[in-house]
Amino acid sequence: MALTGIQIFKLLPKTNCKECGVPTCLAFAMNLASGKAELDSCPYVSDEAREKLAEASAPPIRPVAIGKGVRAFTAGGETVLYRHEKTFYNPSAIGALIGSDISDADLETKLKNWNAFQFERVGLNLRPELVVLKDIGGDKDAFAKKAKTIAETSEFNLVLMTSDVQVMKSGIEACKFKRPLLYAANEKNADEMGTLAKENDLPVAVRADSVEGLIPLIQKLTEMGLKDIVIDPGSREIKKSLEDLVAARRAALKGGNRALGFSPITFPCEMASNLEMETLVAGMYIAKYGGIVVLSDFTGESLFPLLLERLNIFTDPQRPMTVTEGIYEIGNPDENSPVLVTTNFALTYFIVSGEIEGSKVPAWLLIKDAEGLSVMTAWAAGKFSGDDVGIFVKKSGIMDKVKHTELIIPGYAAAIAGDVEEELPGWTIRVGPREAAHIPAYLRAK
Ligand code: SF4
Repeated sequence: MALTGIQIFKLLPKTNCKECGVPTCLAFAMNLASGKAELDSCPYVSDEAREKLAEASAPPIRPVAIGKGVRAFTAGGETVLYRHEKTFYNPSAIGALIGSDISDADLETKLKNWNAFQFERVGLNLRPELVVLKDIGGDKDAFAKKAKTIAETSEFNLVLMTSDVQVMKSGIEACKFKRPLLYAANEKNADEMGTLAKENDLPVAVRADSVEGLIPLIQKLTEMGLKDIVIDPGSREIKKSLEDLVAARRAALKGGNRALGFSPITFPCEMASNLEMETLVAGMYIAKYGGIVVLSDFTGESLFPLLLERLNIFTDPQRPMTVTEGIYEIGNPDENSPVLVTTNFALTYFIVSGEIEGSKVPAWLLIKDAEGLSVMTAWAAGKFSGDDVGIFVKKSGIMDKVKHTELIIPGYAAAIAGDVEEELPGWTIRVGPREAAHIPAYLRAK
């Protein structure tokens, strides 16, 4: 049975030395209990305590690092069945399939097109992470050549997909530096695939025909010393596949079944006859519980909604979504353009920036960190006071960008106008509309 935070705390050195990255041993114990920390982060645990803590320190779904560079990701590391219980931590990685028989020219075109699918949202760059290279025809040289091209000429990380051990070996030699995921060890090749994964220190996926069928294979690999495992219960029928993923997650989290405590890889590309349907199936897996979701292709209309869904599912429901504090240019503003200020609640930002954009009046929008609260709530909570707003405006750097001294504050924060004026001597503080929908008329009338 997993230990509670307090039980773990009793086994720690209690020196609060902070070397594990948190201020106290108690905080570390709580993180350990919830699977958010690794025991190895504390260098002072005694061997005896280490043994006792071994079980408690392992997250119920093991986090597995895959890939290198800006598109590297972690699959797993989850601690709850339902997002509202706490949060989901590691976003599902999204990949697309390429056959090893693709021509060089087509591969180049695909990688170029796919690389362009990057979307800015709330200060984040949303993009897919993976190319899944599927062995077609068992040609190990072709497989290695394509793996090398993908690894060396693109940011994408790889899943090497073949059950042929020799083909896999060639693929690994070509792109090992990118830490690819090996897909897959199965009943027939588990020993050889396991050895390849172990020798090269790479993560490996395990495929079986059922959840139960995964258990002996996973036990075999873990006995070989492998820890970085991804699972595929095998079903390509939507309902059955979802049931399998739920069963595995439940067994790991509620039943304490360590053999199933790994993140699943899913294949909507093998479960639908068109990309629209694949996208719907992929949406299901992002919500429940695909650590990796593989499509047959990337297109903007499929990928963008999936990336947005992923962004929403994998944010902490107890924390409001925010945008980064700073100056946002809307419609190429110049030194005479109006300056507006509001809070960093993502919804506020999107509504206000959308209305400014719709007004066709170029403007500077200052976003002040108010811990993700809307204007009224932030003002009531003292997070959007006149003094704070004034100091923020001074520090923001907007004074280097405009030659006027006029600031528009939200109508709902009219009460802070005097304090802002005091903090910004010489500036004129205008109270803008209460409702964002009235911003276009307000800006055009200025
Ligand atoms: Fe406590 Fe170990 Fe963290 Fe130091 S490193 S604060 S001893 S848990």
